Amino acid sequence: MSLEKLAIHGGEKAIKTEFKKYNSIGDEELNAATDVIKSGSLSKFVGCWEPDFYGGSKVQEFERMCEKIFNVNYAVTVNSWTSGLVTAVGAIGIEPGDEIIVTPWTMCATATAILHWNAIPVFADIEPDTFNIDPESVKKNITQYTRAIMAVDIFGHSCDIDALMKIADEYNLTVIGDTAQAPGTFNNSRVTGSIAHVGGYSLNRHKHIQTGEGGICVTNDKNIAENMQLIRNHAEAVVGDKGHENLINMIGHNFRMGEIEAAIGIEQLKKMDQFVLSRQETARKITDQLKNISGLKLPIVKSGCTHSYYMYPMTLDKNIIKVSREKIQNALEAEGMQGLDPGYINVHLLPMYQNKMAYGSSGFPWNSEICKREVTYKKGICPVAEELHESTYLGFNNCDFDITDDQIDSIGLAYRKVFSQLESL
Ligand SMILES: *Cc1c(COP(=O)(O)O)cnc(C)c1O
Repeated sequence: MSLEKLAIHGGEKAIKTEFKKYNSIGDEELNAATDVIKSGSLSKFVGCWEPDFYGGSKVQEFERMCEKIFNVNYAVTVNSWTSGLVTAVGAIGIEPGDEIIVTPWTMCATATAILHWNAIPVFADIEPDTFNIDPESVKKNITQYTRAIMAVDIFGHSCDIDALMKIADEYNLTVIGDTAQAPGTFNNSRVTGSIAHVGGYSLNRHKHIQTGEGGICVTNDKNIAENMQLIRNHAEAVVGDKGHENLINMIGHNFRMGEIEAAIGIEQLKKMDQFVLSRQETARKITDQLKNISGLKLPIVKSGCTHSYYMYPMTLDKNIIKVSREKIQNALEAEGMQGLDPGYINVHLLPMYQNKMAYGSSGFPWNSEICKREVTYKKGICPVAEELHESTYLGFNNCDFDITDDQIDSIGLAYRKVFSQLESL
């Protein structure tokens, strides 16, 4: 290919069209929602101990369907996966001051759920190739106060769940999974998200399947499932009549899912495999275009795993590429590239952690007797994750768009143009 003038230097753009927004909602969802609206019964939950404590018929139908598809004994739907994470952490009986080891390379809600129960997030570093929490780093962060590990299947690739379950077994910890980005994927023929003690999926509008807002908690443990049903729905008002004797974390919320969302969720679940397949197809074609570009590392899929490509993650090999990511991103965007993302600001570097100020003004829970030791969030505790966000990660928001084959070809052209003329940037 002859060198063409880069768009950032006044040349012609490689990508000339806007990427179409990914939209998973069709007539099936429209009809399902309409039927619920016509019925007038938009929610049936009652926050006391009677049959409707478990929600309306669509919610229950959706939950039974989730149990089948995610291969778990219990699914408990909630009004967002953020609520779901809070529900899951509470349901395992966490105590204030308990430490939960979590990845910094995730959406903030993963770690916030820990603080919600006045437990203490401890950040472990990640693997540079899958971007998931590194079991070796988890081990190094275990203390006598550690109670759980929170693992995310980031970007759509399963974390090393077997290694984490083994550590959990050895140290008597609970594993909480956050599979928001990896529905419909597998780890050695097991459904990703079904192996942790408790976990779940997001139904937020950015995800493969959505109900606008919503979440699904899953577990094989009957007690955890029951606790989640209670926390979702005003636990404190229900436990007495229900005869529920264990009062740990029986402070309840209204995290209930409505019937419209559940009806939409049922239709979305039916299409989930097809949606995930289409993300995988796009990723395969992008890989075809970008695989020979020196210095650009493309996503890996570990043997036995499948990838949902919520993100199409890429990193710059600093040994080969001496130009800053910012310059490369600017040049690609000038070529018309859309949906580029420099990854997660590491959660421990957010102001709340840097200032150790979550509840009120006195530094609670860190600066209080419930926090049993000094936990550090200093820059440098997670070098792999920090470097990715600072300088080497540059992913494509694959789940945001439905791109055409022509557009994928033009992405290839844009990358080849820019990466063959890096010295000019
Ligand atoms: C989207 C997401 C969440 C939050 O889910 P919501 O349904 O938006 O509350 C949590 N964790 C990860 C990894 C996510 O991608």
